[in-house]
Amino acid sequence: MPALLTLGSLPRGASLASSVSCSSGRSLFFFFVCCTRPWLAAATTKLPGLPAAPLTKNVRGAVALFGFGKSKHKAKRSKLSEVMQAGDPVLHEPAVEVPLEEISSYRIQKVIDDMVEVMREFPSVGLAAPQLGVPLQIIVLEDTEEYISYASREEVEVQQRDPFDLLVIINPKLKTKGSKTARFFEGCLSVNGYRALVERHLEVEVTGFGRDGLPLKLEAVGWKARILQHECDHLAGLLYVDKMIPRTFRTVENLRLPLPAGCPKPGVCQEIAAVEP
Ligand SMILES: [Zn+2]
Repeated sequence: MPALLTLGSLPRGASLASSVSCSSGRSLFFFFVCCTRPWLAAATTKLPGLPAAPLTKNVRGAVALFGFGKSKHKAKRSKLSEVMQAGDPVLHEPAVEVPLEEISSYRIQKVIDDMVEVMREFPSVGLAAPQLGVPLQIIVLEDTEEYISYASREEVEVQQRDPFDLLVIINPKLKTKGSKTARFFEGCLSVNGYRALVERHLEVEVTGFGRDGLPLKLEAVGWKARILQHECDHLAGLLYVDKMIPRTFRTVENLRLPLPAGCPKPGVCQEIAAVEP
């Protein structure tokens, strides 16, 4: 059976997405005024003197993106209860750009630290700030030899998956390259317990800024490109379920059961196929 997986390596639980245009324009102040959650307001406020405690508490609970579906540490599974779940407005609205002059602020640096911590604790291969209830355009991702070891050699090969060091990207702009795509099962901690086939581009280019405030540009293929697409989708207010092949949606427990007749199969394809509901 073809690989399963979600974006992460999977122990199964990942996700992905496709191009994303991270819109911006709205001020952080807008979110501050509109937000009903004290801690979210704190996280998105114009900064000065932002109490670190509320933000830290909630951010740490939130969770990573492409979770594997199971944690190395059973006790940490409880963090899932604090991860924003589908239906929460913060997951369905575009995130706001981080003003460049604020990247070096304690507030933004703390958000990044907390995102990385949560991603690694779960563990997951990626996380977007909105999943922690912070509507800012920040993503973190990382894939390691250990995570990859959880997948079969066959899966790793077909997914074109290679380890890469931690990436922190602020205000990412993603462009797909070429016409080649692939379909694999994805999952998301914000749609906990489910998976579905999602077709995504095999190659992307991303520009943005690092946590040091310097511009960055990178190209990615295979699984790394999928993670980037999934994370950038979060910043556009999209979840994988917005792009999945609907009839392949299933619980994690049913992941390996046969696909319905007529459903496209997992694997590399050439062009994005029209999705029949
Ligand atoms: Zn996700």
